[in-house]
Amino acid sequence: MQAGDDPHDQRNQSDQSDPAHANRLALLGRCVAMIVHDAAQPVASVATRGQSALRWLRHDPPDIDAAVASLERLVADAERAGALLAELRALASPVARPRQAVPLAALLRDTLHWLDDDLRTHGIDVSADLHDDGGAVMAERAALQQLFVNLVVNAIEAMADTPPDARQLTVALSAHADAYVVAISDHGCGIAADAAPLLFEAFYTTKEAGMGMGLAICHRIATEHGGGIHAEHCAGGGARFVVRLPRTAQAAS
Ligand code: ADP
Repeated sequence: MQAGDDPHDQRNQSDQSDPAHANRLALLGRCVAMIVHDAAQPVASVATRGQSALRWLRHDPPDIDAAVASLERLVADAERAGALLAELRALASPVARPRQAVPLAALLRDTLHWLDDDLRTHGIDVSADLHDDGGAVMAERAALQQLFVNLVVNAIEAMADTPPDARQLTVALSAHADAYVVAISDHGCGIAADAAPLLFEAFYTTKEAGMGMGLAICHRIATEHGGGIHAEHCAGGGARFVVRLPRTAQAAS
């Protein structure tokens, strides 16, 4: 076959002569890779937890409590995958979704519970200082959950090279007159000075398998809820991500 006879050749040539088209394809490829990367973990977890529930039920005698615990985690993982897909759908076609009063302390406790296995596997000591004054923020619960999951997963990844006895994650919630502030601090690699202005840009990543979408999504979720997010250095090394969300009355108005 002569060069150019192959229809694939022709398609590649037309891509090369249309940089906008090539850019769109590259962007689509990165989005698909991101979806696969972020959805694969909870989906794989669902299968593992389902298998372990079956094992407990097949025990003689069956261990019902252990099976129920596995199934509860399975449901949480399935919800996490669902929340991620809902978030991606919202990115593709932003449509207003219903908001409800979400108590942040409970949401943060749930987030840490969901990620309990990951945190334990990586030997991370978690300290939660959740000042619960009974108030709430008006929010899309799944979106807020996604925001905090992203931040905790980033903190876990940032501490990959931290000595085991220094792997500490702190999640602090404080209540102010008009807003709640959540600070997630780690003892990880920290943020390089030249990276700081880029952190919340889509596709900015320093990780080999990273997609650089997590913080861009966090930023969008925080601002859509009338709040904000920023990063700062922790005194003892590591990074702190601070999310500010307006209290219910203000957010609802
Ligand atoms: P990804 O995790 O795919 O790289 P993110 O948007 O979540 O995408 O993060 C972008 C970049 O921000 C990361 O690649 C990393 O360089 C930096 N970053 C995020 N969280 C932390 C953290 N806790 N400590 C240090 N750097 C971080």
